[in-house]
Amino acid sequence: MRVKVLTHTPEPEKTVAAAARLCYSNAGACEIMENLTEEKISSFIQKLMDMGHMSPTEHVTFTFAIEGVSRTLLAQLTRHRIASYSVQSLRYNNPFKEELKKEDETEAAKLKSENETYLKGFLYAGGEKALYKSFIEESGVLPALPEEIPEENLSHYVRGIFDAAGEISNGSFTISFPGTFSSILARTPFKFTAEGERLLLSGKDAVDFCLHIYGGVDFAGSLFLREKLVELCTRSADFFSGIKKQAEDYIAYRYYCVLPQAVANNPEALLVYIDALETCKKSYLAMVKMGIDREDARYVLPMGTRTNLVVTMNVRSLYNFFNLRCCERAQTEIRELARMMLAEVKKIAPNLFKKAGAPCEATGYCPEGELSCGRYPVRN
Ligand SMILES: Cc1cc2nc3c(=O)[nH]c(=O)nc-3n(C[C@H](O)[C@H](O)[C@H](O)COP(=O)(O)OP(=O)(O)OC[C@H]3O[C@@H](n4cnc5c(N)ncnc54)[C@H](O)[C@@H]3O)c2cc1C
Repeated sequence: MRVKVLTHTPEPEKTVAAAARLCYSNAGACEIMENLTEEKISSFIQKLMDMGHMSPTEHVTFTFAIEGVSRTLLAQLTRHRIASYSVQSLRYNNPFKEELKKEDETEAAKLKSENETYLKGFLYAGGEKALYKSFIEESGVLPALPEEIPEENLSHYVRGIFDAAGEISNGSFTISFPGTFSSILARTPFKFTAEGERLLLSGKDAVDFCLHIYGGVDFAGSLFLREKLVELCTRSADFFSGIKKQAEDYIAYRYYCVLPQAVANNPEALLVYIDALETCKKSYLAMVKMGIDREDARYVLPMGTRTNLVVTMNVRSLYNFFNLRCCERAQTEIRELARMMLAEVKKIAPNLFKKAGAPCEATGYCPEGELSCGRYPVRN
């Protein structure tokens, strides 16, 4: 998500202070503007905020560019009616333009070759053939020695070996292989330690190794054992954070979608999410290729689909927005957006937004009753 203030009313704090002063003065707004010092401006604004006299703040607007947010967020944001919106259209913009122009044969061939290499390693290490029966029969893959594997596919080959014979040990994060696979050492950039009959990698080396073998994974198309990936994520926080970053980029690039934090934090859910996105994308592309208009085919696109928009709100409406959406009870993505917007406007007009944010932060109590997050006391 990216947020930037595109433009705003010039001299926002002075404008609000002048409008407020006008109510109690015989002078006109131009004269008041000329005579306002920095001190007077901040003292007027302080008074306004203390009294809750908010109407002068309506004279000042901020326009934001918001990029890379979900359509779920869009639905929530546009409930805020005192605002103006311009939103990137899915009718005129096709997130999968390239895929529609041509079947990407190069990509498909690359994936096929990576998967075949994976299977060569998997079979070499004695992996259970039944697991990949149809792939093995279809491509006629046979086990291969490491020396036969081209450099660019080595990570997929080693992943195959790891899935067939590698183990994740208890205790500190340790990856072990049967000693008989020592020949893979010669080709990988990792230093294994032999311990008895086992080849071992521990701690950071093990994390780097796992990130290497999953580095080029196409989550929806590559062969890998899901339960093994999930176990790695569960055992090593460092590995999991590397995978999350990779999955987030993959989801943004391949599906033009946002990855919700709660899904990102659960490796099993992350894979389920990717499965669902793949199904939606395939269905959308199939319908467009059948001649269905994009504006109708888009009905199958997920709520997580990304969009970009421009929003303008006046300061009073922004106060209401921050009040509702900076609160812990607001949904994660829109809360992140609200906090980012607040940080931006505070840089421009710190006095004006001093009391903006979740209500608890300004008042010291929570108005959410039994739904309170517990950070502040609830007022009886
Ligand atoms: C945690 C959370 C959960 C929510 N859950 C739901 C939900 O389950 N279902 C749902 O439908 N919505 C839900 N909402 C959305 C919510 O009901 C509001 O629609 C949204 O927050 C916009 O707020 P608003 O109306 O104050 O903002 P705006 O539309 O920007 O209005 C600002 C203010 O102007 C005044 N105003 C605007 N229009 C009118 C009007 N027609 N008449 C009188 N006064 C007006 C009101 O004082 C209003 O507060 C939720 C919001 C939050 C923060």
